[in-house]
Amino acid sequence: MVLLDGKKTSNDIKDEIAIAVHKMKELGEKVPHLAAILVGEDGASLTYVGSKVRACERVGFESTLIQLPDTTSEEELLIKINDLNENDEIDGFIVQLPLPKHIDEQKVLMAVDPNKDVDGFHPENFGKMALDMESFISATPFGILQLLERYQVETKGKNTVVIGRSHIVGRPMSILMSQKGPAGNSTVTVAHSYTKNLPEITKQADIIIAALGIPEFLKADMVKEGVVIIDVGISRVPDETKKRGYALKGDVAFDEVSKKASFITPVPGGVGPMTIAMLLKNTLLARERKNS
Ligand code: NAD
Repeated sequence: MVLLDGKKTSNDIKDEIAIAVHKMKELGEKVPHLAAILVGEDGASLTYVGSKVRACERVGFESTLIQLPDTTSEEELLIKINDLNENDEIDGFIVQLPLPKHIDEQKVLMAVDPNKDVDGFHPENFGKMALDMESFISATPFGILQLLERYQVETKGKNTVVIGRSHIVGRPMSILMSQKGPAGNSTVTVAHSYTKNLPEITKQADIIIAALGIPEFLKADMVKEGVVIIDVGISRVPDETKKRGYALKGDVAFDEVSKKASFITPVPGGVGPMTIAMLLKNTLLARERKNS
C-alpha cells in the first residue's frame, strides 16, 4: 500500500510556486496577491482562512484578509467584491464559505470576476472546466488530480466511483476524471444519497473518491483488493482523549480499508493540504495570465 501523502506533495507544490515567485521578483515583476473575505466569526472558517494567509506568506505572495462582521448585509458584501474586482493590485480572491444565512451564496459567487475567481466556483469557470477550456479548476478537485498524477496512479480505462455530487467536489471530480488528459480517461459512476446497492457499485471500482461527509462510511467489505482510495471527507468526531475534544475523520474507515488498498490518502494529511496548495497555484496562474 502506498500512502498518497498530501502534506509532502503540497509542500513540493508550494516550493515550486515559491521558485516561480522568486523569478518574478528577479525580473522586477509584480508578485501574486491573494485576498480573502471572511464574514462572521465561525471558528473553522477562521482557521481555514488563517492557513491560507500563512501559506501565501510562505511562497512569497502578498495577501490581504478582509474580515467583516456577521451583521454585514448582502449589499455591503457585494460592494466589497466589486472593489476587489476593480482593484488591479489583487490578482485573485476568495469569499470564505459558508456565509451567514441572510446572504445569498449564489449571488455572491456570481459577483466575483471570473478572471479573479481562484476558487473556481463561478459558473463561467465551471462551464469552461467542463468544456476542457482554460479555466480555474476549483482547488479540491485540482488537488486530487495532482495527487493522482504525481503518484502516477493509472486512471485511463479504470472504473472510478465518485461518492457525492456536490458542486465543489463530487460533480467537478466526476467530470474531470472522465475527460481526456492527465488523471482522466476514466469510466466514471457518480453515487449519491439516492443510489441503491452502493456496496455492489463500489466493489467494482478501481478508484473510489469518497466525498459524502459521513465519517468512516466506506468499509473494507465495500471495496475490492487493490483499490485506489481518495478520501475527501473531513468530519469532527467527539474524542475526549484529544486536547481539543475532537478527532478529524475521513469518509473512509482507514485502518481496515488501507489493508486492501494499493494507494490511499490519509485524513488528515491527504486531500486537505492539497486544497490550499492548489488555491496558491490558481493565484499564480491568475498573475501569469495577466503578465502574458
Ligand atoms: P455535501 O454535503 O455538499 O455533499 C455530500 C454529497 O454526498 C451529496 O451529493 C449527497 O448526495 C452524497 N451523499 C450523502 N449521503 C450519501 C450516502 N449515504 N450514499 C451516497 N452518497 C451520499 O458535501 P461536500 O461539500 O462535497 O463535502 C463532502 C466532505 O468533504 C465533507 O466532509 C467536507 O468537509 C469534505 N471536504 C473536504 C475538502 C478538503 O479540502 N479536504 C474540501 C471540501 C469538502
